[in-house]
Amino acid sequence: MPKKKSPAIEFRSGFVAVIGRPNVGKSTLINALLGQKVAAVSPRPQTTRRTQLGILSLDQAQIIFVDTPGLHNPHHKLGKALNLTAEEALEGVDLVLWLVDISVEPTDEDQRIASLLAGLTSQTPLVLALNKTDLVPAGKLDSHREAYQALVPPETALIPISAAHGAGLLDLQDALITRLPARPPEYPDDQITDLYERDIAADLIREACLSHLRDEVPHAIVVRIDEFTERNEKGAFIAATIFVERDSQKGIVIGKGGEMLKKIGTSARAEIEAMSGRKVFLQVRVKVLKDWRNDEELLKRFGYDPGRK
Ligand code: GDP
Ligand code: MG
Repeated sequence: MPKKKSPAIEFRSGFVAVIGRPNVGKSTLINALLGQKVAAVSPRPQTTRRTQLGILSLDQAQIIFVDTPGLHNPHHKLGKALNLTAEEALEGVDLVLWLVDISVEPTDEDQRIASLLAGLTSQTPLVLALNKTDLVPAGKLDSHREAYQALVPPETALIPISAAHGAGLLDLQDALITRLPARPPEYPDDQITDLYERDIAADLIREACLSHLRDEVPHAIVVRIDEFTERNEKGAFIAATIFVERDSQKGIVIGKGGEMLKKIGTSARAEIEAMSGRKVFLQVRVKVLKDWRNDEELLKRFGYDPGRK
């Protein structure tokens, strides 16, 4: 005899594509919702270079976030690969969560995202999260809100939040859950991300580079994990290579007497330890890989899909 089902509320679960132009706070939001560092956060655009999954497991629902890179103008082949990933990530999802920065008016990039969504929202529900409410200049909230409202279908839910301050997150969570299909969970409830730990480690090392290097070595950096081994129950050994495009950049990343590289390694190690909850021994080196951003083979090797043309 099959067990009687309890008359409880139906479980809801599904895939949510998180989209939005760079720097609006997508990674911050996912981290805040998941309460753990999963997506790389940075004060500069484009830290997130590949589609990531963050899984929020609740009593009545499971939300699987697909964290997409920001949509932007492609300047080189990597830019194109990122755009493709974002558009592809919108296919086959149950819901689209569009994050905008309500502290400023919509930009050209927001307009482009709106037209991209226009061909999509007929089947897929859309939730528009108005982030950075804490930064809205006095008296601008209503006019900015109207400007964003004009970019989406009238039935779209608009939810004001501050990802960095944790405001409005429960409202947002509810808005997402009610729009997900009634469906059993996709993943075990203790699984936060299906990204390999080593990919997250690579992201965190890259993030450490960006935060220490400021404008000197913009986005010419990619990180490869060469070795990731469990030493014992106490910790892991990670060896990584930071690739740059030019000799001059290599010098900057290493710094005088290796000081910069030491700083980067120290911050990255702290972040990886916080993420994985155990000790990490991290070894980082720097190598020049000429023009990797324009080389399709190299892009593939680093896990970016250069796309079909
Ligand atoms: P992403 O490129 O969309 O993933 O953006 P990030 O999550 O990396 O955030 C970009 C920057 O905006 C970081 O410096 C965040 O700390 C900041 N940020 C994100 N959300 C908020 C917010 O609600 N308020 C404020 N003041 N800053 C935020
Ligand atoms: Mg991000």
